[in-house]
Amino acid sequence: MSQVITRIAPSPTGFMHIGTARTALFNWLYARGRGGKFYIRIEDTDRKRSTTEAKRVIIDGLGWLGLDYDGDIISQFERAPRHIEIAETLLKNGKAYKCFCSNEEIQKFKTEAQKSSKSTLFKSPWRNTDPSKHPNGPYVIRIKAPGSGETIIQDKVQGKIVIKNDLLDDMVLVRSDGSPVYMLAVVVDDHDMGVTHVIRGDDHLNNAARQNLIYKAMEWEIPVYAHIPLIHGEDGKKMSKRHGATSIEEYEKKGYPASGMRNYLARLGWSHGDDEYFNDQQALQWFDLHNIGKSAARFDLKKLQFLSGQHIKNADDTLLLNQIIDFYSKDKKSIISTEKVELLKSGLYCLKDRAKTFAELIEKAQFILTELPIQISSDAEINLDKFGLKMLETLTPQLHNVRWVREDLEHVCNSVAESCGVKFGKLASPMRSALSGQTKTPSVFDMMLVLGRDITILRLNSAQGI
Ligand code: GLU
Repeated sequence: MSQVITRIAPSPTGFMHIGTARTALFNWLYARGRGGKFYIRIEDTDRKRSTTEAKRVIIDGLGWLGLDYDGDIISQFERAPRHIEIAETLLKNGKAYKCFCSNEEIQKFKTEAQKSSKSTLFKSPWRNTDPSKHPNGPYVIRIKAPGSGETIIQDKVQGKIVIKNDLLDDMVLVRSDGSPVYMLAVVVDDHDMGVTHVIRGDDHLNNAARQNLIYKAMEWEIPVYAHIPLIHGEDGKKMSKRHGATSIEEYEKKGYPASGMRNYLARLGWSHGDDEYFNDQQALQWFDLHNIGKSAARFDLKKLQFLSGQHIKNADDTLLLNQIIDFYSKDKKSIISTEKVELLKSGLYCLKDRAKTFAELIEKAQFILTELPIQISSDAEINLDKFGLKMLETLTPQLHNVRWVREDLEHVCNSVAESCGVKFGKLASPMRSALSGQTKTPSVFDMMLVLGRDITILRLNSAQGI
C-alpha cells in the first residue's frame, strides 16, 4: 500500500475543542504508526473568524499535545485559485455548469415544489442549456449530480453507507462572487495533499456523499473514510461547557501532562482490549481504525485524572522536572530558583506519587517552594497551639545530632511523641504545619529528608518564634 497520509483540517473558531484534539490525535496515530505523513490544513475561508490569534490557538494546542506535523501548515483560503481552477475543469468537461438563476427564482422553485409535495431539491433550468445561450449576468457554478442511483461510502467506522442520489442536488461549487464553496475546497485540498485517509467527526458524514460527487466527476481516487462519533458528556449529550472544559488549552492550564491527555483522548472512542494506561509507543503500535467505536464516546473526568496521575507517577524524572518548571513559570508567572529546583529534584520521588496534575504536584511541593517566614494557613495554625509548640520544643534539639536518615528520624520522633504522652500522629501535625505551613503534604519524614537538617531546624524554630 502507498504511504498513509492523513490531515487535521480545523476551522479557526477561537479555541481548540477537545473533539478536534482527539481527531488530530487519531490522524496522527494512524499516520505516524505507519510511517506516514500527518498534515495540518487550516480551513480559514471564513475570513472574519480566521484571525492570527484563532490560528495560533490551534497550532499551540497541537504543539502542546505533542502532535508533530509534516511540511508547512496549509491555508485553505490561499488555495482558492486552485479550487476555482478545478471548477473550471469540471465546466470544461461538462461535469458542471453555469447557473444564472437568482435567489428569488430558487426560492420560487422551492415554494412551488413544497405546494405540490414534490422534492424541494433545486433543479436548475440551466443544467442542459447550450453555453451559447448564456446571458451576461452573474452565475454560480453547479456540479451535475447524477440524480439517480446510489452513492456508497465504505466507512471504516460507520460501515457501508448508502445515499440515494436523488437526495443530492446540483450543489454550488463556486458562488456568484467567484468564491469557491467549502465542499469543493476540501476535496481539492485533500486530493492535492495526497490524503489517503480522512478521519474526522461523524458530523461530516453527510458531506462525504456530496464530496464524492466531486471526486467522481474529477475521476480522482476517493480516500478511505473513518467518521468518528462525537464526544458526549457523562449525561449522553454532546460535550459542552456544562460537562467540563471543552477547550484543550484549559487542560494544559490545569496542569494535565500532555502524555496523559494523549492516552485519555486515544481511549475516547477507541480501544485496545482492556488496556487503559499506555504510552505513545504502544498507542502508535496498536492504533487502528477498526477498533474505533460506533457510538459516541463519553467524557469521563475521573478517568482522565487517573490516567494523568499514572503518567506523572511513571514519568522520567528529568522530563517531569522540566515540565513542572515550565508549568510553574506559565502558571505563576515566576521562576523556581536553582536551589529549589535541586530540592524538587530530590523530592520528586514523593511528589509524583498520587498527583493527578502538575498543579497538584506543585501544591504538594509547597514545602519546598515556600520561604521563611512561612505563610501558615488557618488550618495549619490550629496545630501550632500551646501543646503543639511544646512538642516541637522537645523535638528540635534532638535533631541536631541525629543521623539524617529515615529510620533514625522515625526513631527520634516516635520517642519524642512517647515522652509527650501522644501517638506519633499527634506530633506530626505541628511538625507538618511548621515545615510547610499546610495540612496536606508528603509525610513529615519525606519533607525532612528532602529539606535537610538545616532548613528543617530553621523552620521548626521559626514556628516557635525562635
Ligand atoms: N473544518 C472541519 C471542521 O473543523 C473539518 C473538515 C474535514 O475534516 O473534512 O470540523
